Amino acid sequence: MAKKTVTLPIGWRGQPVASALQQKEQEPINIKGHNLTKNVYYASSFVPPEWIAAHGFRPYRILPDGHAASTEAIRVPEREGLCPYAADIAAQAGHKNQIMVFANTCDQMRRAPESVIQDPSRTFFMHIPATWNNPEAETYYQSELTRLGGYLEAMGGSAPSKENMLSIMQRYEAGRQELLASRKSCCARAHIARTSHFYQTGTCPPLHNALRSAPTSTPLMLLGSHLRQADLAIFDQIENAGAHVAIDATDGGEREWPRALQPQNMQTDPLHELAQAYFLTIPAVFRRPNDALYQWLQQAVETHSHLRGIIFVTQPWCDLWKAELPRLQSAISLPILHVPLGGGAHESRATRIEAFLEMIA
Ligand code: SF4
Repeated sequence: MAKKTVTLPIGWRGQPVASALQQKEQEPINIKGHNLTKNVYYASSFVPPEWIAAHGFRPYRILPDGHAASTEAIRVPEREGLCPYAADIAAQAGHKNQIMVFANTCDQMRRAPESVIQDPSRTFFMHIPATWNNPEAETYYQSELTRLGGYLEAMGGSAPSKENMLSIMQRYEAGRQELLASRKSCCARAHIARTSHFYQTGTCPPLHNALRSAPTSTPLMLLGSHLRQADLAIFDQIENAGAHVAIDATDGGEREWPRALQPQNMQTDPLHELAQAYFLTIPAVFRRPNDALYQWLQQAVETHSHLRGIIFVTQPWCDLWKAELPRLQSAISLPILHVPLGGGAHESRATRIEAFLEMIA
């Protein structure tokens, strides 16, 4: 297979993106006339930034590793039995020592933060029920949002008015729709950078630097664990092998976005609509039962009939995703290549991806 070299502009690759975003970390953001200056950090898709902003804080989603990690830095958590992503998010939270919201969506995310928290009063643990197809679980999730709101008010925030909630929800919904509409106009790596920018500044960056993938390259789905900054090189390896990621179904990708917020429901009860959109529709791997994950995958495969295969990525010690591999192989008709992430895997990854593409060509 002929190889091509993809050159992304500065600002879309590793350290420059992270540095640019870190510079913005302290800049106030303005949402419908409200100047938000104090950050509340979070990392989970189940923590709605709308709810944080409605309490007068600047929601700031932590990027998976803002710094160029050394191979040794990647391998130490692996040796200690920690998922490198969870260890990385916890380390960044410990470093910031500011208000941080964690969600207990897996054992590793429950465990990793405990070792780095310096000031427990600045940390909020949000309990996300794994079971979800019953009214009690919905009510519980909404009560956790209410508990989070009370915590934010105790930390100096303001109680949200309905009008304020509505304007903030509309703003975030418009941003997500803009990102979705531009998804086909830029490659997956650029889409990740634009999404990260949105979840850290509340605004979508202009599209002019975002590159399209070559239209003749092989479309693939990337599925699996959270990605660290160091793992984003896999997008380049896929492109260099003559393919591209048409759907990013990793834990930080478009699979974990809430459904579109409904204007009528927002008018009636904005908090309830927020809870429904986030809790009921994100097909996360930790849900029990997790049939919604497979329904989402089946629908994605049917809708994107041009997809040729799936690259399935797992972090070391990510038992949630590793346990899904046998079921994925029997439930999904597309060929699947399992690519373990982590410090020792980088060198052989490109060769395996190239061999996979030759097999499905
Ligand atoms: S990659 Fe897996 S183990 Fe790590 S935080 Fe995500 S779900 Fe948990």
